[in-house]
Amino acid sequence: MADIIQLLPDHVANQIAAGEVVQRPASVVKELLENAIDAQSSIVKLIVKDAGKTLIQIIDDGKGMSTTDARLSFERHTTSKIRTAEDLFDIHTKGFRGEALASIAAIAHVELKTKLELEEIGTYLKIEGSKVLSQEVVVTPKGTSVSVKNLFYNVPARRNFLKSNNVELRHIIDEFHRVSLAHSNITFSMFHNGSELFNLVQSNDRQRIVNIFGNKTNEKLIPVEEQTEVIKISGFVGKPEFAKKTRGGQFFFVNSRFIKSSYLNHAVNSAFEGLLREGTHASYFLYLDVDAKSIDINIHPTKTEIKFEDEHTLYAILRAAIRHSLGQFSIAPVLDFEHNANLETPYSYKDKQATVPIVEVDKMFNPFQDETSPSRRSTTYKKEQTAGWESLYIGLESKGNIPDHELSQVQFESDHEMLSMFEDKDTKSELRTFQIHNKYIVNAIKSGLLIIDQHRAHQRVLYESFLQSITIEESVSQQLLFPLSLQFSTIEVATLQGLKSQLQLTGFVFSKLDHDEVELTGIPVSVIEVNVSNVLEQLINDVEHQVPDSHFSQSDLIAKSLAKSLAIKSGQKLTVQEQEHLVNSLFACKEPSITPLNTLTFITLSGDDLDKKFR
Ligand code: ADP
Ligand code: MG
Repeated sequence: MADIIQLLPDHVANQIAAGEVVQRPASVVKELLENAIDAQSSIVKLIVKDAGKTLIQIIDDGKGMSTTDARLSFERHTTSKIRTAEDLFDIHTKGFRGEALASIAAIAHVELKTKLELEEIGTYLKIEGSKVLSQEVVVTPKGTSVSVKNLFYNVPARRNFLKSNNVELRHIIDEFHRVSLAHSNITFSMFHNGSELFNLVQSNDRQRIVNIFGNKTNEKLIPVEEQTEVIKISGFVGKPEFAKKTRGGQFFFVNSRFIKSSYLNHAVNSAFEGLLREGTHASYFLYLDVDAKSIDINIHPTKTEIKFEDEHTLYAILRAAIRHSLGQFSIAPVLDFEHNANLETPYSYKDKQATVPIVEVDKMFNPFQDETSPSRRSTTYKKEQTAGWESLYIGLESKGNIPDHELSQVQFESDHEMLSMFEDKDTKSELRTFQIHNKYIVNAIKSGLLIIDQHRAHQRVLYESFLQSITIEESVSQQLLFPLSLQFSTIEVATLQGLKSQLQLTGFVFSKLDHDEVELTGIPVSVIEVNVSNVLEQLINDVEHQVPDSHFSQSDLIAKSLAKSLAIKSGQKLTVQEQEHLVNSLFACKEPSITPLNTLTFITLSGDDLDKKFR
């Protein structure tokens, strides 16, 4: 048989390599930013169009390249950063594989302009799909500009695989953050579709963090410093009371390179033990410097993972350093709250342990009763949701016990001509609901017993009411006495901006919503003021983690998220009136039997079921 093995042509090999290096626009951003830093730049500018799908350009003022180097830089395995295999064990630069430019040029239209400091004129190169289309001399400032256009133009499968612009931009911004946080001594700016998203002037680590995440971050940071023979640690951890539900603010940098390490993350968490509210995560910006020879950064193609020579020691030192800082900080007297949340206990925290010792929680305080009790609140609803008791059990009788699989198709009619489940309307004053375990509401009905999950039922009620105010554009909001200003990062604010019009329809009134500033003068009636921040935080989290391309609308997502955060919790004691109102509201819903997330809101036990039990 004839020989069948062939050497792959270069452009094919490059395309294959590109798959490793370039997964999405953000990977290009990372590689080009790193090249700019390795070239000792002091000012780096990132320009992006259409979340990088159309254009990614990086302009630096670094050392530039000669004409020959410019040509060579696009060949595979060409690098100026290592020469021998030994160099691999002592890496001080970001790049060293010599494959980024070659890979990028294989799958995009690339233009390069570069000039060495002492040269008069520079080099211009245009490359498409690994082919050099033109090379010219050009007048250009010292440094390098790389434009990457039409990414994946020749790999349609990959192009189609890209997510929405929102998602891709988010990834780009993440990379931009990681690189710019690691190099506060370099000036970075970023533009997207012509508008400036970030302008980070040369500063120190603390200022860089604040410039990125907003002015109010400053007061949340606790410095961490430690120096031993094996490691130097500097940076900050977030004060425990500002810990968020999202894991957004967690950064390790090892020798100025962003890395992920679940092991070191564990060390940080263990230092925070006992200080965090349940379900929240400490934020941290920790810069570790170790001997380059003691780490192996070669184990991962995109180089965010790293292997340490002596992990156990690092773990112990890191943990101790953070514990020490947290300990020192806790002497500081004032908690810098915008308003004193200690005096109020939002119901979602009611049953949680207060973890910061100086916070005194009034255990008897029950804001639900004062603030969100549907029965007391009902006066502020523009539309009363229910038509009274009659509507309560309409539709139940004929359906009886519904098998699970049918539930999704069941449409409950709210039409009044349906038979009431009550024997007799006049008995209604005698009908009572009961709460079991502060979790279920139980009710005798004509056909037997109705058992409602209060948390789920309330989710359904809130979901439909939010969806309704969004779709019929009829918002109801409670005016705040004083504007409420909240702390969010620039990115989070950008997410909120995208949702602004729908949020306004749910009752939020924004007096400020730009950069890192959020100020509200009105909120939905079902929200209590101390909870607003959590509710919006949860919403941002939900938006960020939404299944891409899911066919649900943004309005639906908002309604679901708000309903989830605001629904009364299991464990919440309800008065009889509150129970009744909830039951009433539930059965006034279009789809009372399931939650927005498709779980059952109630079950029924028929007389037969009960009879069987007693047999
Ligand atoms: P690596 O960074 O792993 O060396 P790259 O493909 O990213 O590989 O770059 C190849 C070479 O091109 C680099 O080693 C460097 O010499 C040169 N180079 C790339 N980008 C720049 C830049 N912005 N300024 C100066 N030189 C650069
Ligand atoms: Mg590189």
